[in-house]
Amino acid sequence: MNEKPPAEKNIPFFKPSFSEKEEEAVIRVIRSGWLTTGKETLDFEREFSGYTGSPFSLAVNSASSGLLLAMEAFGVGSGKKILTTPYTFVSTATSARHLNAEIVYADIEPDSYNIDPEKIETVLRKDSSIAAIVPVHIAGEVCNMRAINEIASRFNVPVIEDSAHAFPARTPDGLAGTLGDAGVFSFYATKTITTGEGGMVCVRDSEKADRIKIMRSNGINRIVWDRYTNPDASWKYDVVDEGWKCNLPDILAAIGRVQLTKADTFFKERKALAEMFNTAFSRCEFFQLPPDSPGNAWHLYLLRIVPEKLTIDRDDFMQILREKGLGVSMHFIPHFEMSYFKDRYGLSKKDFPEADKKYRTTISLPFWPGMPEQTARRIIDTVIETGNSITGGAYDRNKKNKKQILQ
Ligand SMILES: *Cc1c(COP(=O)(O)O)cnc(C)c1O
Repeated sequence: MNEKPPAEKNIPFFKPSFSEKEEEAVIRVIRSGWLTTGKETLDFEREFSGYTGSPFSLAVNSASSGLLLAMEAFGVGSGKKILTTPYTFVSTATSARHLNAEIVYADIEPDSYNIDPEKIETVLRKDSSIAAIVPVHIAGEVCNMRAINEIASRFNVPVIEDSAHAFPARTPDGLAGTLGDAGVFSFYATKTITTGEGGMVCVRDSEKADRIKIMRSNGINRIVWDRYTNPDASWKYDVVDEGWKCNLPDILAAIGRVQLTKADTFFKERKALAEMFNTAFSRCEFFQLPPDSPGNAWHLYLLRIVPEKLTIDRDDFMQILREKGLGVSMHFIPHFEMSYFKDRYGLSKKDFPEADKKYRTTISLPFWPGMPEQTARRIIDTVIETGNSITGGAYDRNKKNKKQILQ
């Protein structure tokens, strides 16, 4: 008989970790009658500064907004450029484009997914219009910030960390996102802590912090109109520049405050899951483990196929795993593969061999804190079995004979 076992439920790429505490926080804010940015957001900012040690933390409605605001505060604009990595999400670069600045890309390191400090230096030697370096801590693994900061200070260029993946990644020098001149965190639905949508800008300098506060609220200068010191004129304000609407509402800040109290637990759970994956996959010579420094925040688990040992197309491998019920994904499609960036800057993958190599061979496994061990086991077993069946000859590249592997 050809009977298949009953289909198991598919494993999603990600599951949010909420409890009654987040529900209660939202109800508390709704019942308070104050929904937009107010006391909850101020508390969230203060608590975030307390956790990270950042002098100023400014809550925003997304990391994309936060990048825009931080870049604006540091003088990114017309006639200027930012220097970043092609191996990142869209908004690392488009934030600069919204300010009419251009983008210069430097390839990633051979042994990680992060921007290569040596290549940063090469660009800075040639180009004096770089207004900011924007390193991205991919998957929660912190960039070589000592090297990047050293180069940045030599060329006198500010560093804005895209820390969307990196809360709370640790280094001997402090948390990622507090190591450069500014750091931007994301609280998007799948990030390490979440408010559904949201973000935080951490910045050292008080003038930059003031500028970001003004520009996130329509250019309205309310700092001098503090309602406690000047209650009689609470309706009065001035508009000092053309700002945007990027503030975080209290409903979301209240969720963020609860998530922040769980950050250490999530961090440990993510690390434990990563270690379980690492132990299992290290036994397979056809996989390469993700970079693994002790403070990694493990936002994502990026597994690389070693093409010399496992001759399968990455897309085919992903497709097989999906058909077996694993919600695998890919992070990231580099900017030289996207028509907007490719066309605007004439990008070619040949100029970014490391990013191209990683892109062609990497998959992102289902990964979330508190994943049941049984689920993690099934992921491991499925991925390894699939790899073994290919090395055992079940995969014919030309025929794309996926059927054999699926059985
Ligand atoms: C998610 C992400 C962002 C944007 O975050 P949002 O809060 O969704 O705007 C920026 N950079 C990177 C690397 C990201 O992964």
